[in-house]
Amino acid sequence: VDRAGDRVSVMTRAFDRRRVITAPVLLGGLNMLGLGGCATQSGVSTSPVYQPARDLAPVRARADRLFDITVCLRPFRAAGPRLETEQIGDTLVVHNYGHGGSGWSLSWGSSTIAVQMALAAGPREVAVIGCGALGLTSALLAQRAGARTTIYARDLLPQTRSSRATGMWTPDSRIALTNVASAAFAAQWEQMARTSFKTYRGYLGLPGDPVQWIDYYTLKDAAAAAGPSPGQLDFADYRSLIRDLTPRSEAAPPGATPFPTPVVHRSSTMMFNIADYGHTLMGDFLAAGGKIERAEFHAPSDLTRLKEKVVINCPGYGARALWKDDSITPVRGQIGWLIPQPELTYGLYYRGVSIVPRRDGIVVQALEGGDMRGYGVDDETPDRKESEAAVAVIADLYSRFGPTRRG
Ligand SMILES: Cc1cc2nc3c(=O)[nH]c(=O)nc-3n(C[C@H](O)[C@H](O)[C@H](O)COP(=O)(O)OP(=O)(O)OC[C@H]3O[C@@H](n4cnc5c(N)ncnc54)[C@H](O)[C@@H]3O)c2cc1C
Repeated sequence: VDRAGDRVSVMTRAFDRRRVITAPVLLGGLNMLGLGGCATQSGVSTSPVYQPARDLAPVRARADRLFDITVCLRPFRAAGPRLETEQIGDTLVVHNYGHGGSGWSLSWGSSTIAVQMALAAGPREVAVIGCGALGLTSALLAQRAGARTTIYARDLLPQTRSSRATGMWTPDSRIALTNVASAAFAAQWEQMARTSFKTYRGYLGLPGDPVQWIDYYTLKDAAAAAGPSPGQLDFADYRSLIRDLTPRSEAAPPGATPFPTPVVHRSSTMMFNIADYGHTLMGDFLAAGGKIERAEFHAPSDLTRLKEKVVINCPGYGARALWKDDSITPVRGQIGWLIPQPELTYGLYYRGVSIVPRRDGIVVQALEGGDMRGYGVDDETPDRKESEAAVAVIADLYSRFGPTRRG
């Protein structure tokens, strides 16, 4: 979760599907699932029947189980990601960077647009700068469209900032500012979100669970809603544009869950197990003949030395230095990683702390301060105290976890 827990986009349950060796197939028809049913204006279901989930395992929240602490910077642009072409000498550069806290979520949709621009003149070969979420999806889509594709990047996926993300469906997390982004961007965002949503469908149910659905509980000690924080920027909130894709969260009746708080809301959301998902993306690209070369670029003119004359530029936060693009603001985010618990199948948000049950480590994230947290901060030094304090909040919660395990 990349934002306050009660703003998590809600989805539906996973479908079973056997792995196929071919590229994931785009499947539509999500409305058939009736995801928009029994919704209220507030976004919380009024359904009279609350069906408890299977047994809920407690999180083993102890500071000595933190096996890693990572930090990354969200590449935020007030106007939204840069998705446009620029001619440099004889090279056509298609920019595809600046996706804030939504880079994984929007990757397929954004890269679909970038690849369309890149292939408009029918080049046989395409270069992609960057091997993060945007670079990999751009490369795969260019390759699937028939172009010989090479990725040039300083870091491969496991070393990129993308690999240090939470890994949740958060398509409008710090993606733009309402008063700066154009109406046209809102429409483009919707297109990107819908394309990505459909594409992720093709990664569900594969061995290793690169993508899966989880339940997510938002716990509150009291029903009172928090007001906007002072100094809060007006981050764009486009959720209403894709309401039909996802079900509403539902309020659990008192005593229906083991959680000790009076307010419990349950939603379902899509989670990306980035270790396995990234491995799948890289493997698919290489297996289909894609090439990856380590390279570092210091100025836009360096790109004209590549043999490919069409380049999709996905350097993420790196565009600030490479393109001298000061429109990118860093938004620092830190994750404390608890040792994975395979029996933990749900996430939660409680007192400003979010837990996400990734297969490659349980994500513990302090989110107090909302979207402004880490805004303008480019320090990527881990702060162990922050993660330990977050773990302590979760430990306190589970010290009061009820005897019933269904929820
Ligand atoms: C704490 C945190 C949590 C997040 N959680 C989520 C989430 O749950 N869901 C979500 O959708 N998004 C999330 N995000 C946002 C997401 O991580 C980013 O939007 C995304 O990683 C951006 O991907 P990218 O491919 O543009 O950039 P990067 O991952 O930074 O990749 C950039 C690539 O370009 C290369 N590169 C850069 N400069 C150069 C250069 N000069 N020469 C050569 N190569 C270069 C790099 O080596 C790298 O390969 C989160 C971000 C943070 C910080």
